[in-house]
Amino acid sequence: MERNIVKLQGLPVDTFTFDEAVQYALDNHGQVITINPEMISAAHKDKEFANIIENADLIVPDGIGVEIGLKILGYKVRRIAGVELARTLIDVFTKNKKSIALVGAKPEIIAKTVENLKAQCPEINIVYLQDGYFKDDDAVLDALQKAKPDLLLTALGSPKQEIFNRRVKDILPETLAIGVGGSFDVWSGMVKRAPVFWQKAGLEWLYRTIKEPKRFKRIFPTLPLFVISVLQERIFRKV
Ligand code: UDP
Repeated sequence: MERNIVKLQGLPVDTFTFDEAVQYALDNHGQVITINPEMISAAHKDKEFANIIENADLIVPDGIGVEIGLKILGYKVRRIAGVELARTLIDVFTKNKKSIALVGAKPEIIAKTVENLKAQCPEINIVYLQDGYFKDDDAVLDALQKAKPDLLLTALGSPKQEIFNRRVKDILPETLAIGVGGSFDVWSGMVKRAPVFWQKAGLEWLYRTIKEPKRFKRIFPTLPLFVISVLQERIFRKV
């Protein structure tokens, strides 16, 4: 399957459907990034982070902000929720007898996540587990190198998880590593995703902000500024 990459605010985004992204991830290795407006804005201020995104092996549009941005530029690309993509990858990798490692989140969260994943997916082959509050990155990277997972899920928040997974790519070129943000919190059952209606309406961000008001500072003004910035990008392209 060939990648069809478009540029949004100077950064690449893959235009795969959900199913294509799953298949592509299964057939390839390297770094998967689930990109959102906050990450795009962070990349504009941080060259190293921008470089990591540019060199990722699959970049999926996570969230309504990126879908709207792409639409403004004339690309009809459906958003892919990172939490859903990662959960599907666990099933598909397990079905294909591939091994999995989980790194990130609080110790009790990762423990509950593993318990739930084992109940839902009894064949799951977890070869390495580490909560996200370690001090020594090199020690965790060494352990990962020994465990050689086919799939690594890293839940350290952004950009920490992307920086970490970039290092994983150097030592484990055959591994597929994806940054999954708060997914373990969801899979542990400690944090609920928005009801499907809110998800379908593209309002999961609003639901999460109401439930967790401290997120407000992260969403605003990033999201509206991002939309304004993409509108400017479109006007500029037409000149
Ligand atoms: N996290 C972690 N180590 C850290 C910082 C964060 O393991 O040093 C975990 C945190 O416990 C949570 C996850 O990273 O499970 C994602 O956090 P957040 O919800 O802020 O991520 P985002 O909204 O950026 O996806």
